[in-house]
Amino acid sequence: MSDKYDVVVIGAGPAGYAAAIRCAQLGLNTACIDKSLDKDGEPTLGGTCLNWGCIPSKALLDASHKYEDAKKHFAELGIHTGEVTVDVAKMISRKDEVVKGLTGGIKSLFKGNGVTALHGTGRLLANRQVVFTAHDGAEQTLSAEHIILAPGSVPVEIPPAPLTDGLIVDSTGALEFDAVPPRLGVIGAGVIGLELGSVWSRLGSQVVVLEALEEFLPMADERIARDAKKILTGQGLDIRLGTLVTGAKAEGGEVQVSYQDAEGEHSLTVDKLIVAVGRRPYTEGLLAPDCGVNLDERGFLYVNDLCATDVPNVYAVGDVVRGPMLAHKGTEEGVMVAERIAGFKPLVNYDTVPSVIYTHPEIAWVGKSEQELKADGDNYKVGSFPFAASGRALAANDTQGMVKIVADADSDRILGVHVLGPQASELVAQAVIAMEFDASAEDLGLIMFAHPTLSEAVHEAALGVGGHAIHMVNRKRK
Ligand code: FAD
Ligand code: NAD
Repeated sequence: MSDKYDVVVIGAGPAGYAAAIRCAQLGLNTACIDKSLDKDGEPTLGGTCLNWGCIPSKALLDASHKYEDAKKHFAELGIHTGEVTVDVAKMISRKDEVVKGLTGGIKSLFKGNGVTALHGTGRLLANRQVVFTAHDGAEQTLSAEHIILAPGSVPVEIPPAPLTDGLIVDSTGALEFDAVPPRLGVIGAGVIGLELGSVWSRLGSQVVVLEALEEFLPMADERIARDAKKILTGQGLDIRLGTLVTGAKAEGGEVQVSYQDAEGEHSLTVDKLIVAVGRRPYTEGLLAPDCGVNLDERGFLYVNDLCATDVPNVYAVGDVVRGPMLAHKGTEEGVMVAERIAGFKPLVNYDTVPSVIYTHPEIAWVGKSEQELKADGDNYKVGSFPFAASGRALAANDTQGMVKIVADADSDRILGVHVLGPQASELVAQAVIAMEFDASAEDLGLIMFAHPTLSEAVHEAALGVGGHAIHMVNRKRK
């Protein structure tokens, strides 16, 4: 094995593997080190996203949604089935197959593009050197012209709820239950709490979500968050805001949780407890003390807008650096760094990073919320369109939610798009494209959308900004 490379990447999650593949495509001799092992103890690529994050959670979200649809809504369409039952073991093993297929795909992409995959741990030394320790303990010092750090993040643990033997678990454990827990507690009503809470609620768990904040989804548009809470509560998620968990103890195969809220002390008994209170940058063992790379005050690797660390030719991308902890954000940073190493000048536009919560209906947005614009004192106008008025949503029996667009009151430039509804994750991409091209709401309104589609709700919301949606009675006619 060579010990000299143009580029060494540490971490093969979506940030690191994308960086490595793009470097190789650009003709750079590239190695990518990753230490992850799968359930069978075999090396696996793809990081959190493919192994324990985006992909397995969506496999369970899609499967559990189909189950719930069949059980609760098929009859509304005139479809009668026999008793609909769930085989949790099969659902989990199918999820594992999806993961295996995709992680194997990264292996093939590395091979096809000529990236050297090194399975083990990487540690950055001074002078652009990296110690690679293979899983068998063998050590080798590599040197590279450029180094890209992409070690990702890990779940935050909280002292009142220490993880305990499959009973008090983090998101990884919550993807592996072997049966539906009759009573499930979730700490944190963030993205993971709502997604995994939904999975198990659909499959039959009574789910209680304990959230420290008084506000539900403060990062989303207020109107969308309010409607989403109502819908998710209606689906069976018992979301308790303003609660402080003071203790959680596994005892006799169940978990006793104690918490406080404005009304005082409470206790709750559940069969499993998921701790989903955020993730933190993962830098353990990554940096030799004299390597020169610095952390910021929150423990992220310190980088500038171009993902350069304080050491020339050493970059950091993905969850380990500032910004939202999202796979697509990390991927774009990885590609940007690879292309900059090769002499190109791309940038990441952090103003148009889309966010999606894969509940049903999905919640997705890009840009500013109405409350942010209000707080900034900006002059804006709003257009919205409910899916209840969309022909396609009605035909599909999927009418909850709305599209809401906020635009600058003077220039009409789109400042934010917020979707609660079916396929919001796909619809928000149209908004990202529009905002990347600095579109006005009028521009979107002038574009032809196929009928009948959910996308027409985006079109109508854009027309609504000017007060002339066709399928709504408009108060501000122009
Ligand atoms: P990671 O994916 O964490 O990969 C880092 C890799 O580096 C890991 O394999 C790690 O083992 C390895 N590594 C770390 N240190 C070293 C070292 N010193 N030597 C060698 N290897 C090392 N994001 C979305 O955008 N959409 C979603 O739907 C979504 N769903 C999620 C669901 C769940 C349950 C979770 C937990 C996360 C989800 N995320 C989602 C977040 C997403 O997974 C992360 O944003 C993304 O994986 C970050 O990519 P990364 O490459 O920065 O790091
Ligand atoms: P999060 O930041 O989305 O939500 C954590 C929630 O826990 C917050 O609402 C917070 O107020 C609450 N909280 C924190 N401490 C608490 C405590 N002691 N008691 C009660 N509540 C507490 O974090 P997450 O849901 O763990 O997800 C981590 C990250 O993973 C996300 O920020 C996101 O970047 C990424 N992720 C993305 C997706 C997606 O894109 N669909 C899905 C899953 C995860």
